Amino acid sequence: MAEQASSGLYCEVCGIDVKQDNELKRFGKFFCSKEHMEMYVNAKQRELGARERRRFRGC
Ligand SMILES: [Zn+2]
Repeated sequence: MAEQASSGLYCEVCGIDVKQDNELKRFGKFFCSKEHMEMYVNAKQRELGARERRRFRGC
C-alpha cells in the first residue's frame, strides 16, 4: 500500500494538494498558484468590502 506523503493541505480554489512550505498563503489558506491565490483574495476582499459598506449604512 503506497502511503502518500500528503501535507493535508490543498488549494482553496481548485482543491489540488499543495506543499506546506510554499509562499502562496493568504487568510490561513494555501493555494497551488499565484493566480488562484489572487482569485481567492479578490473574492475575500469583495466579501469584506460588502460587510464594511453594510456597517456604515446601518450607522
Ligand atoms: Zn488551485
